[in-house]
Amino acid sequence: MSAETRDPQSLLSHYEYLIEISQQLTSTLDLTELLRKITAGAEQLTDTEASSIMLYDSQVGALRFEVTSNLNPDQTESIIIPIEGSIAGWIFQHGEPRVIEDVTTEPSYFGQVADTVDLQTRNLLGVPMRAHDKVIGVLEALNKRDGQKFNEQDIRTLTTLASQAAIAIENARLFQQSDFIAEMVHELRTPLVALKASTSLLLRPDLPEDKREDTILTMRAETERLIRMTSEFLDLARLESGRAHLNVAPFELDKLIDECVEIVKHQAASKDVTIDMGDLDFLLKGDRAKVKQVLLNLLTNAIKYNREGGTITVTAQSSNDYDTTYTEIAVADTGLGISPEHQKNMFQKFFRVADAEGYAHGTGLGLAIARHIIEAHSGRIWLESEQGVGSTFYITLPCA
Ligand code: ADP
Repeated sequence: MSAETRDPQSLLSHYEYLIEISQQLTSTLDLTELLRKITAGAEQLTDTEASSIMLYDSQVGALRFEVTSNLNPDQTESIIIPIEGSIAGWIFQHGEPRVIEDVTTEPSYFGQVADTVDLQTRNLLGVPMRAHDKVIGVLEALNKRDGQKFNEQDIRTLTTLASQAAIAIENARLFQQSDFIAEMVHELRTPLVALKASTSLLLRPDLPEDKREDTILTMRAETERLIRMTSEFLDLARLESGRAHLNVAPFELDKLIDECVEIVKHQAASKDVTIDMGDLDFLLKGDRAKVKQVLLNLLTNAIKYNREGGTITVTAQSSNDYDTTYTEIAVADTGLGISPEHQKNMFQKFFRVADAEGYAHGTGLGLAIARHIIEAHSGRIWLESEQGVGSTFYITLPCA
């Protein structure tokens, strides 16, 4: 029922609902959760079948789907909505709401969306999402229920919801950034302090020649660590803020693993670690480069935390989760293992096992990045481990 035809009582509960959602939005700092609440609220308030949020991506200069209430992210993730020649682009540019009674007669309707997703859009109401005088995206409510038309009341409520939502999104982004920056700066201090100590040492005229060379090697190692850390920080920041997008396409697992093994083989050889492979003849669907990053992380960890002369075994098998077929990939090592109390923290950013500190250098970000990447593919990542025996890391990825 649209708000104009509501009786006063139901109109009141309509506004109460709007206030309730707004309150919920301001208290949610988790971006994914926030986006879900916004779309649920938009549908409820406008009495529509679906709703979607498109946010402006300054890197590509276009809008991107952040969430669509009834669609799989797989279907919408890769769609870029141009500013010129799309309804959402018009709303974004003009900062004004728009009602499209029949999308089939609308020349600026961006057909690629309809071609890609299952939902047939009939009509829509789109409003700008404005935070602090800046439009950051567009909120759309799609397909008014029971053959109704969008009315003034719908436009007003959706506009109010969209501005509350925009501010909440900006807050969540800022919160994530500040939290992350504090941790990052803290982590950067260790290599920086080491570099400073090294330079002071080098300035001493009485430093023996062999010490001088050791110091320079330390400086090189610490500089490399800083470079690795900064690129991992950037990766994780992008993943956490939902700004990293997947380029999904089919790829062959065996070829990918071969490439990864080629990259790590010298590192493995230096520790006399053998890499064995099972049948890896699987066709997967995902962002190949990002999956490669995950597999490289698991393999380098399996080398770093293995024993001298140890083994790594990479295997894969099909598994079913509800009605989707996944490929489950396992990377098993014969290393020092992980205690049960540490296992649960393994995928937290900056987490490193204290005993393993002396074992190998690292940032403690690799597995956190891996989790984000795998979950963005609707997959899972977990581990099984026995101390003194070894660990096995598992990931699941959708099949092509
Ligand atoms: P990094 O290796 O850069 O420290 P990761 O996020 O990849 O960061 O791993 C986090 C921590 O988990 C490591 O520091 C190490 O203590 C532990 N770890 C990861 N992989 C293994 C493994 N295969 N065996 C034992 N411990 C591991």
